[in-house]
Amino acid sequence: MDFILKLLGFYKAEVIPMVSPMFKNDSERLKNEYNALIDKNKDLYDAINDLALFMRTKLNKSLIITMIYRTDEEQAEIYKNSPKYKEKPFKSPHQFWQAWDTHSLDLSTAQISTIVDYLNQKYNETNYYSVTCMYHEIDNLGYHLHSQFIKKTINK
Ligand SMILES: [Zn+2]
Repeated sequence: MDFILKLLGFYKAEVIPMVSPMFKNDSERLKNEYNALIDKNKDLYDAINDLALFMRTKLNKSLIITMIYRTDEEQAEIYKNSPKYKEKPFKSPHQFWQAWDTHSLDLSTAQISTIVDYLNQKYNETNYYSVTCMYHEIDNLGYHLHSQFIKKTINK
């Protein structure tokens, strides 16, 4: 299918299919935050849509967003049992509209690796953060498929 689309020149043409992400528990809050990204961090918004399309076409999965913005109170709640946080509270990229989390419970280990590799290969080079996507464990939340992106300003 991809091969035929490429042959027909569809990939670079104006026919770019759009696959929208879904939201945990059909949350209005997440939907509003996703729309707010158009103003707050359009590059992150575009990366979400890019991954939604990738997951649909390559993995036959929906991208389900579980978190975008995180308040200071939510950050404190997540790390309330962390001695490191207690000693010196730290911020998350989520508190600056620079990250989203992807629901991963229904993804296989191989599918998660495919997503992590796809985002890192595509975005690390232009990302202010050195790593775009990681699958890691955080206090009170279990494993979490975290993606972060702000476009680097290029000095010429
Ligand atoms: Zn995260």
